[in-house]
Amino acid sequence: MIDSHCHLADRKFTRDLDQILLRAKEAGVEKCVTIADTLKESKQCIEIAEKYPEVFATVGVHPHGSRAWGVGDRDNLILMLKKDKVVALGEIGLDYHYDNSPRDVQRDVFKIQLELAKELDVPVVVHCRSAIADLKSIIEEVDHKKIVLHCCTEKWEDVEWLVEKGAMIGFTGIATYPKSQEIREVIGNCPLEQIMIETDAPYLAPDPHRGKRNEPAFVVEVAKLIARLKNVSLEEVDKMTTKNTVEFYGLPS
Ligand SMILES: [Zn+2]
Ligand SMILES: [Zn+2]
Repeated sequence: MIDSHCHLADRKFTRDLDQILLRAKEAGVEKCVTIADTLKESKQCIEIAEKYPEVFATVGVHPHGSRAWGVGDRDNLILMLKKDKVVALGEIGLDYHYDNSPRDVQRDVFKIQLELAKELDVPVVVHCRSAIADLKSIIEEVDHKKIVLHCCTEKWEDVEWLVEKGAMIGFTGIATYPKSQEIREVIGNCPLEQIMIETDAPYLAPDPHRGKRNEPAFVVEVAKLIARLKNVSLEEVDKMTTKNTVEFYGLPS
Protein backbone atom coordinates (compact mmCIF):
# COMPACT_ATOMS: atom_id res chain seq x y z
CA MET A 1 0.00 0.00 0.00
CA ILE A 2 1.16 3.54 -0.71
CA ASP A 3 0.25 6.86 0.87
CA SER A 4 0.21 8.84 -2.38
CA HIS A 5 -0.02 12.27 -0.71
CA CYS A 6 1.23 13.36 2.71
CA HIS A 7 3.15 16.35 4.03
CA LEU A 8 6.12 14.89 5.90
CA ALA A 9 7.95 18.24 5.86
CA ASP A 10 5.22 19.66 8.09
CA ARG A 11 6.46 20.84 11.48
CA LYS A 12 4.10 18.41 13.18
CA PHE A 13 6.39 15.57 12.03
CA THR A 14 9.83 17.00 12.83
CA ARG A 15 10.15 15.34 16.23
CA ASP A 16 9.23 11.76 15.38
CA LEU A 17 9.43 11.11 11.64
CA ASP A 18 11.45 7.90 12.20
CA GLN A 19 8.63 6.41 14.30
CA ILE A 20 5.95 7.69 11.91
CA LEU A 21 7.58 5.86 9.00
CA LEU A 22 8.13 2.75 11.10
CA ARG A 23 4.44 2.68 12.03
CA ALA A 24 3.56 3.09 8.34
CA LYS A 25 5.70 0.10 7.45
CA GLU A 26 4.11 -1.98 10.22
CA ALA A 27 0.67 -1.07 8.87
CA GLY A 28 1.67 -2.30 5.39
CA VAL A 29 2.29 1.14 3.89
CA GLU A 30 5.57 0.50 2.10
CA LYS A 31 5.96 3.85 0.30
CA CYS A 32 4.94 7.49 0.83
CA VAL A 33 4.99 10.51 -1.45
CA THR A 34 5.70 13.70 0.48
CA ILE A 35 4.09 16.71 -1.17
CA ALA A 36 5.40 20.27 -1.22
CA ASP A 37 3.38 23.48 -0.87
CA THR A 38 6.17 26.06 -1.28
CA LEU A 39 9.67 26.22 -2.75
CA LYS A 40 11.15 26.06 0.75
CA GLU A 41 9.10 22.98 1.51
CA SER A 42 10.10 21.48 -1.86
CA LYS A 43 13.72 21.51 -0.69
CA GLN A 44 12.72 19.94 2.64
CA CYS A 45 10.71 17.24 0.85
CA ILE A 46 13.76 16.38 -1.26
CA GLU A 47 15.91 16.12 1.88
CA ILE A 48 13.42 13.77 3.51
CA ALA A 49 13.19 11.62 0.36
CA GLU A 50 16.98 11.47 0.14
CA LYS A 51 17.15 10.29 3.75
CA TYR A 52 14.42 7.62 3.64
CA PRO A 53 14.43 5.07 0.77
CA GLU A 54 10.66 4.53 1.01
CA VAL A 55 9.82 8.24 0.61
CA PHE A 56 9.49 10.10 -2.71
CA ALA A 57 9.00 13.84 -3.14
CA THR A 58 7.16 16.41 -5.21
CA VAL A 59 8.08 20.06 -5.76
CA GLY A 60 5.72 22.93 -6.49
CA VAL A 61 3.83 25.99 -5.31
CA HIS A 62 0.36 25.60 -3.75
CA PRO A 63 -2.34 28.16 -4.71
CA HIS A 64 -2.20 29.52 -1.13
CA GLY A 65 1.37 30.72 -1.66
CA SER A 66 1.10 31.72 -5.29
CA ARG A 67 1.27 35.45 -4.49
CA ALA A 68 4.91 34.86 -3.47
CA TRP A 69 5.74 33.48 -6.95
CA GLY A 70 8.83 35.16 -8.43
CA VAL A 71 10.67 35.34 -11.74
CA GLY A 72 13.31 32.71 -10.92
CA ASP A 73 10.88 30.17 -9.50
CA ARG A 74 10.22 28.33 -12.74
CA ASP A 75 13.96 27.70 -13.14
CA ASN A 76 14.22 26.59 -9.50
CA LEU A 77 11.49 24.05 -10.09
CA ILE A 78 13.21 22.76 -13.24
CA LEU A 79 16.43 22.18 -11.27
CA MET A 80 14.62 20.40 -8.44
CA LEU A 81 12.58 18.24 -10.84
CA LYS A 82 15.85 16.74 -12.10
CA LYS A 83 16.63 15.17 -8.70
CA ASP A 84 16.38 11.38 -8.47
CA LYS A 85 13.71 11.13 -5.77
CA VAL A 86 11.46 13.87 -7.19
CA VAL A 87 8.50 12.23 -8.91
CA ALA A 88 6.01 15.00 -9.70
CA LEU A 89 5.13 18.68 -9.74
CA GLY A 90 2.68 19.70 -7.02
CA GLU A 91 0.63 20.44 -5.32
CA ILE A 92 -0.60 23.16 -7.63
CA GLY A 93 -4.10 24.38 -8.41
CA LEU A 94 -6.81 26.77 -7.31
CA ASP A 95 -8.32 27.44 -3.88
CA TYR A 96 -11.20 29.91 -3.89
CA HIS A 97 -12.39 28.68 -0.49
CA TYR A 98 -9.56 30.25 1.51
CA ASP A 99 -8.55 32.83 -1.15
CA ASN A 100 -5.08 33.17 0.44
CA SER A 101 -3.78 34.57 -2.85
CA PRO A 102 -5.68 36.71 -5.38
CA ARG A 103 -7.59 34.50 -7.82
CA ASP A 104 -5.97 35.90 -10.98
CA VAL A 105 -2.53 35.22 -9.48
CA GLN A 106 -3.60 31.68 -8.54
CA ARG A 107 -4.72 31.07 -12.12
CA ASP A 108 -1.46 32.43 -13.60
CA VAL A 109 0.82 30.43 -11.27
CA PHE A 110 -1.24 27.26 -11.76
CA LYS A 111 -1.06 27.63 -15.54
CA ILE A 112 2.69 28.34 -15.60
CA GLN A 113 3.39 25.21 -13.52
CA LEU A 114 0.96 23.02 -15.46
CA GLU A 115 2.58 24.08 -18.74
CA LEU A 116 6.00 23.35 -17.27
CA ALA A 117 4.88 19.85 -16.25
CA LYS A 118 3.57 19.22 -19.74
CA GLU A 119 6.80 20.48 -21.31
CA LEU A 120 8.92 18.22 -19.06
CA ASP A 121 6.40 15.37 -19.21
CA VAL A 122 6.10 14.98 -15.43
CA PRO A 123 2.94 14.07 -13.51
CA VAL A 124 1.05 16.79 -11.64
CA VAL A 125 -0.70 16.80 -8.26
CA VAL A 126 -3.71 19.13 -8.45
CA HIS A 127 -5.47 20.82 -5.53
CA CYS A 128 -8.95 22.32 -5.99
CA ARG A 129 -11.36 23.96 -3.54
CA SER A 130 -14.49 25.78 -4.76
CA ALA A 131 -12.87 26.53 -8.13
CA ILE A 132 -13.78 23.61 -10.40
CA ALA A 133 -14.98 25.71 -13.39
CA ASP A 134 -11.76 27.74 -13.66
CA LEU A 135 -9.67 24.64 -12.95
CA LYS A 136 -11.41 22.84 -15.79
CA SER A 137 -10.80 25.62 -18.31
CA ILE A 138 -7.06 25.77 -17.49
CA ILE A 139 -6.66 21.99 -17.60
CA GLU A 140 -8.50 21.80 -20.95
CA GLU A 141 -6.43 24.65 -22.34
CA VAL A 142 -3.04 23.22 -21.33
CA ASP A 143 -4.16 19.64 -22.00
CA HIS A 144 -1.61 17.78 -19.86
CA LYS A 145 -2.59 14.13 -19.43
CA LYS A 146 -0.78 13.08 -16.25
CA ILE A 147 -2.96 14.54 -13.52
CA VAL A 148 -4.19 13.46 -10.10
CA LEU A 149 -6.96 15.50 -8.52
CA HIS A 150 -5.99 14.97 -4.90
CA CYS A 151 -8.31 15.03 -1.87
CA CYS A 152 -11.41 14.92 -4.04
CA THR A 153 -14.32 16.72 -2.36
CA GLU A 154 -16.23 17.46 -5.56
CA LYS A 155 -19.58 16.09 -6.73
CA TRP A 156 -19.53 13.38 -9.40
CA GLU A 157 -20.93 15.71 -12.10
CA ASP A 158 -18.00 18.06 -11.45
CA VAL A 159 -15.27 15.42 -11.84
CA GLU A 160 -16.77 13.09 -14.43
CA TRP A 161 -14.97 15.03 -17.25
CA LEU A 162 -11.61 14.49 -15.51
CA VAL A 163 -12.23 10.77 -15.10
CA GLU A 164 -13.19 10.59 -18.79
CA LYS A 165 -9.91 12.32 -19.65
CA GLY A 166 -8.10 9.47 -17.85
CA ALA A 167 -6.99 11.49 -14.80
CA MET A 168 -6.45 9.87 -11.42
CA ILE A 169 -8.59 10.82 -8.42
CA GLY A 170 -7.13 10.83 -4.90
CA PHE A 171 -9.29 10.19 -1.84
CA THR A 172 -8.46 11.07 1.78
CA GLY A 173 -9.92 10.38 5.22
CA ILE A 174 -12.60 13.02 4.56
CA ALA A 175 -14.43 10.30 2.62
CA THR A 176 -14.85 8.33 5.88
CA TYR A 177 -16.73 11.13 7.68
CA PRO A 178 -20.50 10.66 8.15
CA LYS A 179 -21.40 13.80 6.15
CA SER A 180 -19.29 12.89 3.11
CA GLN A 181 -22.01 11.08 1.17
CA GLU A 182 -21.19 12.96 -2.05
CA ILE A 183 -17.55 11.89 -1.95
CA ARG A 184 -18.59 8.27 -1.39
CA GLU A 185 -20.79 8.58 -4.49
CA VAL A 186 -17.75 9.69 -6.49
CA ILE A 187 -15.82 6.66 -5.19
CA GLY A 188 -18.72 4.45 -6.26
CA ASN A 189 -18.66 5.88 -9.79
CA CYS A 190 -14.90 6.20 -10.30
CA PRO A 191 -13.22 3.10 -11.81
CA LEU A 192 -10.80 1.46 -9.36
CA GLU A 193 -8.12 1.77 -12.08
CA GLN A 194 -8.22 5.55 -11.59
CA ILE A 195 -8.24 5.73 -7.78
CA MET A 196 -5.29 6.63 -5.56
CA ILE A 197 -5.41 6.67 -1.76
CA GLU A 198 -3.84 9.32 0.43
CA THR A 199 -3.82 10.76 3.94
CA ASP A 200 -2.92 14.43 3.27
CA ALA A 201 -1.34 14.03 6.74
CA PRO A 202 -0.89 15.71 9.23
CA TYR A 203 -4.47 16.95 8.75
CA LEU A 204 -7.81 15.21 8.07
CA ALA A 205 -7.29 11.95 9.97
CA PRO A 206 -9.83 9.34 8.85
CA ASP A 207 -12.39 7.79 11.19
CA PRO A 208 -11.74 6.22 13.72
CA HIS A 209 -8.68 8.46 14.26
CA ARG A 210 -10.54 11.71 13.53
CA GLY A 211 -9.27 14.62 15.62
CA LYS A 212 -5.80 13.11 16.07
CA ARG A 213 -2.71 14.03 14.09
CA ASN A 214 -2.96 12.16 10.80
CA GLU A 215 -0.09 9.93 9.59
CA PRO A 216 0.64 7.63 6.61
CA ALA A 217 -0.29 4.44 8.54
CA PHE A 218 -3.90 5.66 8.60
CA VAL A 219 -4.25 5.43 4.80
CA VAL A 220 -5.38 1.85 5.47
CA GLU A 221 -8.73 3.29 6.68
CA VAL A 222 -9.27 4.95 3.27
CA ALA A 223 -8.50 1.64 1.55
CA LYS A 224 -10.99 -0.17 3.83
CA LEU A 225 -13.73 2.34 2.95
CA ILE A 226 -13.10 1.93 -0.79
CA ALA A 227 -13.21 -1.87 -0.44
CA ARG A 228 -16.59 -1.58 1.31
CA LEU A 229 -18.05 0.85 -1.26
CA LYS A 230 -16.77 -1.14 -4.25
CA ASN A 231 -17.68 -4.47 -2.67
CA VAL A 232 -14.21 -5.91 -3.29
CA SER A 233 -11.57 -7.22 -0.89
CA LEU A 234 -9.10 -4.95 0.89
CA GLU A 235 -6.32 -6.91 -0.88
CA GLU A 236 -7.80 -5.97 -4.26
CA VAL A 237 -7.94 -2.26 -3.33
CA ASP A 238 -4.38 -2.47 -2.00
CA LYS A 239 -3.15 -4.16 -5.19
CA MET A 240 -4.91 -1.78 -7.61
CA THR A 241 -4.18 1.50 -5.81
CA THR A 242 -0.53 0.49 -5.38
CA LYS A 243 -0.28 -0.31 -9.09
CA ASN A 244 -2.02 2.98 -9.99
CA THR A 245 0.31 5.02 -7.78
CA VAL A 246 3.49 3.24 -8.93
CA GLU A 247 2.51 3.86 -12.57
CA PHE A 248 1.37 7.44 -12.06
CA TYR A 249 4.51 8.63 -10.26
CA GLY A 250 6.86 6.17 -11.97
CA LEU A 251 7.97 4.67 -8.65
CA PRO A 252 10.17 1.57 -8.45
CA SER A 253 7.83 -1.44 -7.92
ZN1 LIG B 1 -4.37 20.03 -1.28
ZN1 LIG C 1 -1.85 18.22 0.40
